[in-house]
Amino acid sequence: MTRILCLSLMLSLASVTVAQTAPAVQAQHSSHAASHAAPSAAEVWQSLMAGNQRFVAGKSQARDLVSLRRKLVSGQSPKAIILSCSDSRVGPELIFDQSLGDIFVVRTAGNVADKVALGSMEYAVEHLHSPLLVVLGHQKCGAVNAACSGEKMPSQNLDAIVEKINPAVVQAKSYAHGDDLVESAIKENVRQSAKDILANSAIIRDAVNSGKVTVIEAEYELETGRVEQLQAPAGDHN
Ligand SMILES: [Zn+2]
Repeated sequence: MTRILCLSLMLSLASVTVAQTAPAVQAQHSSHAASHAAPSAAEVWQSLMAGNQRFVAGKSQARDLVSLRRKLVSGQSPKAIILSCSDSRVGPELIFDQSLGDIFVVRTAGNVADKVALGSMEYAVEHLHSPLLVVLGHQKCGAVNAACSGEKMPSQNLDAIVEKINPAVVQAKSYAHGDDLVESAIKENVRQSAKDILANSAIIRDAVNSGKVTVIEAEYELETGRVEQLQAPAGDHN
């Protein structure tokens, strides 16, 4: 409880309902302002992919960020949680053409799901009721590349990142070699992070099992700007 209260303070998320404070006219940005009217995970994914297509085409939407910023003072209801890499080329709001309040983003190098990342995602699941959790890897990920290199990291903190990625590298090495290794390890690392989320967060696991949250694994392509959903390997229910 204390942790949750602290999170609330840190994130400045007063539990004031949007309906009580936001004039009706301000609902025009999103028809899903209240959690009870939340769209399905499939609808949210569709909207993210539509945004990605706009981004790819160079047709990202113009937005009135000042009025949106004011509207969101009363609360947030992000439609998706995104765990992505911290890489500066992979900003989720940009590549999905989303705006303030649309997505709850957790970023770590290598999109690893460590305890702090898990806690952040749990907050969004528990209190913001986002129906979709996207684990997003990307081409040419430096963190995955470092893990594939096998080189000793210069600090315990960097080593903590590589240790989270290593199981994916081991998996990739069972079938990929040479130039294919890093790309395969990037995909395996997305799957590993999704597995870590379910294995290490009872809150998210319960939400997935009860159908409240859907996890989607995806990869961002640097050259084209496209986000592609990863195909689940045979026997994997994700
Ligand atoms: Zn990366």
